[in-house]
Amino acid sequence: MTAASPARAAFHEFLARYRTFLLTTHINPDGDGIGSEVALALWLRGLGKTVRVLNDSVVPPAYVFLARAQPLEVYGPELAEERFTGAEALVVLDTSNRQRIGRLAPLIDRHPIAVAVVDHHVSHAHGFGRVNVIEPEASATGEILFDLMREAGVSLTPPIAEALYVALMTDTGSFRFSNTDSHAHRMAAELLGHGLDPQRLHAQVHAHASAARLRFFGEVLARLEIHEAGRLVVLEASPEQFQRHGLEGSDTEGLVDMPRNIAGVDAVALFSEVEPGKVKVSLRSTGRVAIDAIASRLGGGGHPHAAGVLLRGTRDQARARILPELHRVIDGGPPTGNGGGA
Ligand code: AMP
Ligand code: MN
Ligand code: MN
Repeated sequence: MTAASPARAAFHEFLARYRTFLLTTHINPDGDGIGSEVALALWLRGLGKTVRVLNDSVVPPAYVFLARAQPLEVYGPELAEERFTGAEALVVLDTSNRQRIGRLAPLIDRHPIAVAVVDHHVSHAHGFGRVNVIEPEASATGEILFDLMREAGVSLTPPIAEALYVALMTDTGSFRFSNTDSHAHRMAAELLGHGLDPQRLHAQVHAHASAARLRFFGEVLARLEIHEAGRLVVLEASPEQFQRHGLEGSDTEGLVDMPRNIAGVDAVALFSEVEPGKVKVSLRSTGRVAIDAIASRLGGGGHPHAAGVLLRGTRDQARARILPELHRVIDGGPPTGNGGGA
C-alpha cells in the first residue's frame, strides 16, 4: 500500500487498528455524506469489521435507496449511547466541523472513542479527529474514499461503486460545478465500469420533487431580486411559505443554484426562514468571487463557490449581516481559482 500523504497513511492504520466502527456525517445530509457512509461501511464490512451508521438527521427520500446496502440509523438518545458504547472508533465524513454532526457531538466527549475525519471542506481545515484526512481539492468526500480504497487495493463491488458515484454526482452538480475536473471524470468512468446505469441513478436521486416543492420554487423565483447591476441575485423564503406548502429546510436543495444560469450573475444568496427566527443562508458563486469566508465568519462554512450558515433572527437581520459583505466581494472581488459545489 502506498499512501499519498501522511494523513492518508494514518487513516489506513486507523482502519486496521479497530474492529468496531461507527460512521456519521453532517446534519441535513446530502448525497456525498450518505454515499460516503455507505461506501466506507461496505469497505469495512468487507474486511470483517462490525459497522454501524448513525446520523443526527433522517435520510432524505432521494438517498433512501442507498440504505439497501447498509442500514442508516437516526439519532435517538438511547440508541446513540448504545452505538457509542459499542464502537471503538468513529469516522466522521463530509464535515470537519464538530457542531455539524448535531446531537452526536457531545457524545464524543463522554465516550472513549477514537475519532477520524475524512472531508473536503476548507473552513475547518484542521479537523477534530485523532486522524484528519482533509483535502479541499477533492470534489467530494467520496472522491477521497475512492483514492483511499485504491491505495488499500480494495476491489470495488457494484454497491460500493454506486454509493461513490452518488457522492461524486451530487457534489459536482452532475458534473457541472467548478469542482468537476479530469480526476472526477476518470473516477466516474471507472465506477461506471462496474455496471452502473448513470441515467437510472440520476433519476433515483433527482425524481423526488413534489408538485408542492415546484410551486414553492416558482413563488420564490418569481420574486427574485437583482442587485449590483445584475451581478447579485437575492432570494427569500418565509416560514409561511414553508408551512403552506408543507415543506422543510432540506426542500430548498437546488433552488439557490437556479439563478446561477442568469447571464452576468456573480453570486446568489438565498435566505430561507424555515421557522420564525431561524434563517438558513445559502450562498453560491458562479466562479469569479469566493463567498465561503462570509459564511465562516458567521459560524458557517463551505467551499469557495458554495457555502452556508444558519443565523438566528429575522430575514432582515440576516440580510443586514450578509449583503454588505457580498457587495464588498462583488465590487472588489479578485478572480478566484478552483472551487467547489457542495
Ligand atoms: P447549502 O447552501 O446548504 O447547500 O450548503 C452549501 C455548502 O455549504 C455545503 O458544502 C455545506 O456543507 C456548507 N454549509 C452549509 N451550511 C453550513 C453551516 N451551517 N456550517 C458549515 N457549512 C455549511
Ligand atoms: Mn455535504
Ligand atoms: Mn461533500
